[in-house]
Amino acid sequence: MRQHLTGIGMTSQRARDRMVQRLMASGIRDPRVLEVMGATPRHLFVDEALAHQAYENIALPIGFGQTISQPYIVARMTEALIQRDIPQRVLELGTGSGYQAAILAQLVDRVISLERVRPLQRRAREVLSQMGLHNISLRHVDGTLGWPEHAPYDGIVLTAAPRRIPDALLLQLSMGGRLLAPVGDEHDTQSLVCITRTERAFFKENLGPVTFVPLLSGEIL
Ligand code: SAH
Repeated sequence: MRQHLTGIGMTSQRARDRMVQRLMASGIRDPRVLEVMGATPRHLFVDEALAHQAYENIALPIGFGQTISQPYIVARMTEALIQRDIPQRVLELGTGSGYQAAILAQLVDRVISLERVRPLQRRAREVLSQMGLHNISLRHVDGTLGWPEHAPYDGIVLTAAPRRIPDALLLQLSMGGRLLAPVGDEHDTQSLVCITRTERAFFKENLGPVTFVPLLSGEIL
C-alpha cells in the first residue's frame, strides 16, 4: 500500500518538528535548511517497515548494503554547501534513497544526482516525482569521476566516501564552488571535508569525523 505524504503518528508533522528541534540542539542553525528538513517526508524514502524510525537521527538501511544518511549529516552538509551563496547547480554522487537530493532540490536551482545501483535509482525517481520535484536529473552511472557534460557545478556533494577525492571532481567545480565529501577508509576514521575552489587554489576545511558507506566502482543493473 502506498504511503501518504501526510502520515499519522511517527510519520506526522509532529515527528518532523521534533527532528528539527534535535537538529537545532546539535548546532544546525540555517533556517532555510531547518525549514526544508521540517517539510520533507523522510519516511517516504525508507521501507514502510522502517517508517516509524524515519525521524530519528539515525542512518537506515535502504537495501543493497546502502543507507539513507543520518538527518544531522544531511543538514550539516547542506548547511555547509549553501553557507556563502546558494549554489545554482549541484552534483550529488550517490542518489541512494533520493532524500539528500530532495533536500537540495528545494534549495538550489538544479540537482544532478548519480547512482551506480539501478534499483535504488528507480525507487528514488518514483518518490521524487511523487513529491513533485522536477529540477533533479538522475543518472545511472559510476560517478567516481563526476559528470563532466554538465560541469561546472557550484556545489558537489558526495554521499559515499572515497579514500581521496579524485582531481577530476575538483576540476568540475566552478570558481567559488564548494565540494563536500566524507573522505577515508571504510574501516578507519573518515572526515567530512569541505573544499572551496578559488582562482588561486583549492581550500580545504575539516568538518569532523563521520561514517559513510564507501564510494565503489562499477555499475549494478
Ligand atoms: N544520498 C543518499 C545516501 C545513500 S548512501 C541518501 O540520501 O539516501 C550512498 C550511495 O552512494 C549508495 O546508494 C551507493 O550505491 C552510491 N554509490 C557508491 N559509490 C558510487 C559511485 N561510484 N557512483 C555513484 N553512486 C555510488
